[in-house]
Amino acid sequence: MKCQEPLSDPSVDLCRACGTRERWFDLAISLGPYEGAWGELVRALKFDVEPAVARFLSSRMADYLLNQEPLGDIDVITYVPMTRRALRQRGFNQARLIAQGLGRRIHRPVARLLRKVHETSPQSRLSARERRRNLRGAFRSIRSIHGKVLLVDDIFTTGSTVEECAHALKNGGCEEVFVLTVARA
Ligand SMILES: [Zn+2]
Repeated sequence: MKCQEPLSDPSVDLCRACGTRERWFDLAISLGPYEGAWGELVRALKFDVEPAVARFLSSRMADYLLNQEPLGDIDVITYVPMTRRALRQRGFNQARLIAQGLGRRIHRPVARLLRKVHETSPQSRLSARERRRNLRGAFRSIRSIHGKVLLVDDIFTTGSTVEECAHALKNGGCEEVFVLTVARA
């Protein structure tokens, strides 16, 4: 109900993570699973600097939001930021590219609302608990904003990155934070 984690028991509607503690985001949805085509697109976006991939992904997100209307009306779109150093190394922020394309397509402003304060170790080998600890305090709100915010990123794994971002956004005054990612790992 809250993060799209597939559940084997049809009688429950929240996964373990959402059921045992409060999530800072209100709802997290993804276009599709990381295995297969969506994961390939995410990898192409991150490593090949292919603008056509970002355009394609933002148009799919826009189609999804406009046709299914899972989130209702959104006031502003933002994205998961990178540290200045990581941004220099890669040269672009893939989440920002998707967010900007999406904003143009659904006619909503895209704003930089968060700053990544310090670099975190790569998340892929960490447990869910370690991921949360690794990211604690990593993001700060840089602009106070009210209303409904859509936070865009490429992958949702345990949700700890978007959760930290949602926490910072709510500290900054956002009333609701929805998360839209390309792929769900
Ligand atoms: Zn969940």
